[in-house]
Amino acid sequence: MSDITVIGSNMIDLITYLDRMPVEGETVSAPDFEMGFGGKGANQAVAASRLGSDVAMITMVGHDNFGKQQLANFQKVGIDTSCIGVGNSNSGAAPIFVDPSSDNRIIVIKGANNELTPEVLDSYKEQIKNSKLIVLQQEIPLETNYHAIDLAEEFGVPVLLNPAPANNDLNLKYVSKVEFFSPNETELSTLTGLSTSNLDEIKTAAKFLVKEGVGNIIVTLGSKGALWVNKDHEEIIPGKKVKAIDTTGAGDSFIGSFAHYFTEGESIPEALKHANEYAAVTVTKKGTQKSYPTKDELKELVE
Ligand code: ATP
Repeated sequence: MSDITVIGSNMIDLITYLDRMPVEGETVSAPDFEMGFGGKGANQAVAASRLGSDVAMITMVGHDNFGKQQLANFQKVGIDTSCIGVGNSNSGAAPIFVDPSSDNRIIVIKGANNELTPEVLDSYKEQIKNSKLIVLQQEIPLETNYHAIDLAEEFGVPVLLNPAPANNDLNLKYVSKVEFFSPNETELSTLTGLSTSNLDEIKTAAKFLVKEGVGNIIVTLGSKGALWVNKDHEEIIPGKKVKAIDTTGAGDSFIGSFAHYFTEGESIPEALKHANEYAAVTVTKKGTQKSYPTKDELKELVE
């Protein structure tokens, strides 16, 4: 049984690099196109696995070629694929359009990710029960996340919930049961209904969640690092200074690497320091999963 279980999404990123966005009714030719493996769940699982964790992914791929490619990618990275199902729909996909100033437009088609229902989770109770940590995001049905939180509570397994992308319907009753809640500023504001436009406001919103029963709030702050708040403690773990080239997928690399370091036995502040370092390294390279280093690559890059 794997130590970390990521219950979440997988998507195929279809990235078109344009000289300019087309206007309505217009066809333009684009200089470059790239396909990549993505989806927040998959990205987080890949980051933890590249660092050497035993990771199982509970997800649904589509019945199409993308699904086969996604499965092959998980296997190549060393992720346990025994809890991955093949759905009746097409694979999740994300057409992404990027212009020369790096402005982007993204469309997410969840596809088979919508077939990851609470009933599907019940088939994988043994994996959930024997995990050291369950990692969740919000690209699968909310009721599946709620069921995962209930199962984890029943089995006494801690949950790390990354509420991305933000969802107005997320129920505080379930959030209050998790050990780690890790939003960015926007997602924190969506859940609490509070403004998070400066550090003081972010701290106030995080403390509100502590009062509601959340164990630890970890707010990612981009290049500034992360804020950690629990009932006894409040601390900013500073980010590592780097020259950022492409921050796509930084949040996922932070979550996946934190899961790795924490389940390896590091204290929360140590794991956060190392997650900041890992995520910082990923922003110095283009791409999402392909910018996530292995443990050995990381050693060379951080020293
Ligand atoms: P995204 O949705 O773009 O993946 P996010 O909003 O979820 O990102 P951020 O707070 O932007 O998450 O970044 C996550 C973590 O990545 C930060 O806490 C930090 O550790 C690291 N990071 C992001 N941007 C930078 C940067 N420019 N320099 C150094 N570290 C960075």
